[in-house]
Amino acid sequence: MKVLSKEELRHTIRSLRKNLSSSEHKRLSQRILENIQALGILERATVILAFCPFDGEPDISSIFAQIIKSGKKLVLPKVVGNSLRLCRVGSLELLNAGTFCILEPVECEGVQPEELDLALVPGVAFDRKGCRLGMGKGYYDRTLGRVRAFKVGVAFSFQVFEEIPCDPWDQGVDAVITEEGIFYRR
Ligand code: ADP
Ligand code: MG
Repeated sequence: MKVLSKEELRHTIRSLRKNLSSSEHKRLSQRILENIQALGILERATVILAFCPFDGEPDISSIFAQIIKSGKKLVLPKVVGNSLRLCRVGSLELLNAGTFCILEPVECEGVQPEELDLALVPGVAFDRKGCRLGMGKGYYDRTLGRVRAFKVGVAFSFQVFEEIPCDPWDQGVDAVITEEGIFYRR
C-alpha cells in the first residue's frame, strides 16, 4: 500500500473537511462537544487551551462561555511570527459574538505552555499512536513540546488513521476526540 506523504494527506483531508456542508459540520461539531462534555475533562481543568475553528476545523467555541463563566482560564492561540502565542481571554467581550472567536487585534495576556492543564488542539490528521499532522508550519510542534497537560486532539473521524507520517519533531497528543468518541494513544 502506498503511504501518502504529509503534503498529500494535508491536501486530501483539508478538502474533505472544507467540503462538509455547514449543516453536517454543525452536527458533527455538536457531537464532538457532547463527547468532550461527557468525559468531564473540562471540569477537572482550570487553565484550558482551546481554539477557534479555522479551515473547516470542528467548532467547539460554544464551550468558551462556559469556561469563562465558571471562573476558569480560557486560553486561545494566536499566530505571532512563526510561533503560537497563548493568550488568556478573560472576557466574552473580547470574542466575536457570532462566532465566539477571537477578535483581531486583541491584546494578549500571555500564558506559558507549562501553565496549561488541558490542551484541546486541532489538526489535519491524527493516528492511533497520537501522532499529529498540522497545516505544515509546525506551530503546534513548537508549543506542545512545553505542554505538560493532557493533550487532546479534536477532529472529525475521517481525520483519524491507523498510521500517518511522523517526523522526530512532531509533537503528539494523548488522546483524540471525534464525533464517534475518544481513543487514547497506544
Ligand atoms: P505541521 O506540524 O504543521 O504538520 P511539520 O511537522 O511538517 O508541520 O513542520 C513544519 C516545519 O516546522 C518543519 O520544516 C520543521 O522543521 C519545523 N519545525 C517543527 N517543529 C519545530 C521545532 N520544535 N523547532 C523548530 N522547527 C520546527
Ligand atoms: Mg508537525
